[in-house]
Amino acid sequence: MIRITFPDGSVREYEKGVTGLVIAQSISQRLAQEVLAASVNGETWDLTRPIEEDATVNLLKWDDDEAKHAYWHSSAHLMAEALQVLYPGIKFGIGPAIENGFYYDVDPGEGVVIKEADFPAIEKKMMELIAAKEEIVRQSISKKDAVALFSGRDEHYKVELINELEDGTITTYTQGEFTDLCRGPHLPNTSYIRAVKVLSSAGAYWRGDEKRPQLTRLYGITFPKKKLLDEYLLMLEEAKKRDHRKIGKELQLFAFSQTVGAGLPLWLPKGTQLRMRLEDFLKRIQREFDYEQVITPHIGHKQLYVTSGHYAKYGKDSFQPIHTPEEGEEFLLKPMNCPHHCEIYKTFPRSYKDLPLRLAEFGTVYRYEQSGELHGLTRVRGFTQDDAHIFCTPDQVKDEFLKVVDIIFIIFKALDFENFEAQISLRDPENKEKYIGSDENWEKAERAIVEACEEKGLKARVELGEAAFYGPKLDFMVKDALGRRWQLGTIQVDYNLPERFELEYTGADNQKHRPVMIHRAPFGSMERFVAVLIEHTAGKFPLWLAPTQAVILPVSEKFNDYAYSVVKELKRFEIRAEVDDRNEKVGRKIRDNELKRIPYLLIVGEKEADNEEVSVRKQGGIDQGSVKLRTFAEEMARDVEKMMNPPLGQI
Ligand SMILES: [Zn+2]
Ligand SMILES: [Zn+2]
Repeated sequence: MIRITFPDGSVREYEKGVTGLVIAQSISQRLAQEVLAASVNGETWDLTRPIEEDATVNLLKWDDDEAKHAYWHSSAHLMAEALQVLYPGIKFGIGPAIENGFYYDVDPGEGVVIKEADFPAIEKKMMELIAAKEEIVRQSISKKDAVALFSGRDEHYKVELINELEDGTITTYTQGEFTDLCRGPHLPNTSYIRAVKVLSSAGAYWRGDEKRPQLTRLYGITFPKKKLLDEYLLMLEEAKKRDHRKIGKELQLFAFSQTVGAGLPLWLPKGTQLRMRLEDFLKRIQREFDYEQVITPHIGHKQLYVTSGHYAKYGKDSFQPIHTPEEGEEFLLKPMNCPHHCEIYKTFPRSYKDLPLRLAEFGTVYRYEQSGELHGLTRVRGFTQDDAHIFCTPDQVKDEFLKVVDIIFIIFKALDFENFEAQISLRDPENKEKYIGSDENWEKAERAIVEACEEKGLKARVELGEAAFYGPKLDFMVKDALGRRWQLGTIQVDYNLPERFELEYTGADNQKHRPVMIHRAPFGSMERFVAVLIEHTAGKFPLWLAPTQAVILPVSEKFNDYAYSVVKELKRFEIRAEVDDRNEKVGRKIRDNELKRIPYLLIVGEKEADNEEVSVRKQGGIDQGSVKLRTFAEEMARDVEKMMNPPLGQI
């Protein structure tokens, strides 16, 4: 008998060789139906894999990420099996699970193209294989046998992968006629998969290398219930409607010009309004938290980046240096603001009394991205970070983390991101030599981050081994209105740059010490954040951010003058308003301006003009009737003021 410990601490005895599925059955039939994989001593296992010794077991269901991963990975195999039937001679690359679904890279052979029109046939074959309830069988195999097996099938991509593996670690998974080189884990059989959809195809170079053959990457997704698939497809439709590139164009927020260059956004007047409002909002918070604004140039001497280490790491992949004509100097477009800020730190001798020093900059940086990777405002070549660097003593790290977490909470709340997740990335305790900085400082900083999250009631996932070599970090991910996750803010401890730039302060002991540096950017970049905000709100920005807050709609030309006087009055209250004086019926004007997602439409006719009133129609078609213009302006100004300046203490 062996002892199985469950997450709640309870222990049960089972016969040696028991499987996750048998354990689930021993608990309840219902659980056995829902369980998809088992976590055995922290590793995800097939439900049918025998457990030979005492172990801690957690039975994983659809809501567990690891279970979803096994589910979608099994679905990748299922799609491959279907493709093998439909496209004899097809060769397989890799087929992993991804955040939403899975893909398989395939080589269908010379001249064979898998088109969207072929997807239904693939789905149909997958459903047939599901109905056949094929068992998915794991097998350990020697390297020699694995090479023989896959060479025999002419699967040269797989053979290349096997050659890089160590003997004794290789496993295959087989279902029906299909065998894959695979570490697993997988579902017990194909019938666990209920609803399937092949989503799209794209070209992908074998191993991401453009000198190697181009394969076809087929994306798909599957669910244990048809209803979940339908919901997902609906979400995809909605996401298309909310695409920030589409809305950005409709609302005239930003544009791209091939003449200026790909990946270099041009902020149009309305988009600039929006962005400046966000910047003002952040600047106010930064002031409250004792940050100091600085401004640094867009380029830096090559030596600056040699010192910072960025040149050695990114130099050859980044933009080419700019040469001065006479002096032969080399400059680089700045890829990050930190080296400049280190130089600002060094302009004066610093004492412990000067710390923490918090330098903030809306710093525009430039990074080379392949043209094929560029995407709207989320993947660009030039962007502005809401950057700041905190220089502090090792003992101040925790306090500074608490403050940055406060700032992030204020921002998420003001912008209606109610759902967010956090991840703490720590050192790999087995490989401490990989990291720079003293053991003592690492322990102090890691403890500081964990405690700061606990004190703020922030549930953060802890990932060991995910820290950068130069320090631990805390990342924030927001979930938008469609449930999609976006990586936003990061707080990163850094022991590397202070060392490289030889930053110092004089301690109370009159000795020289190295400060700790903390990089933090709650939005990440203004471009990325605005993209997320557009997709989260579908372009219906909160009132205080809306580029145009009200449009005045005169019912006829006769009232145009009054309409313009309304705009003038609203301007006194810093309300951004326009007149729609087109010679159109008022119904048409209402429809057109609603499409522009304007928060307030103010209709004016004879009655309004005579009484200095406006007839208010709020976004969403809610008629609020006529009110005095003065009252409307005062109330709206008060609402905006409240939203822009949330009470900072109450979070
Ligand atoms: Zn696999
Ligand atoms: Zn930085």
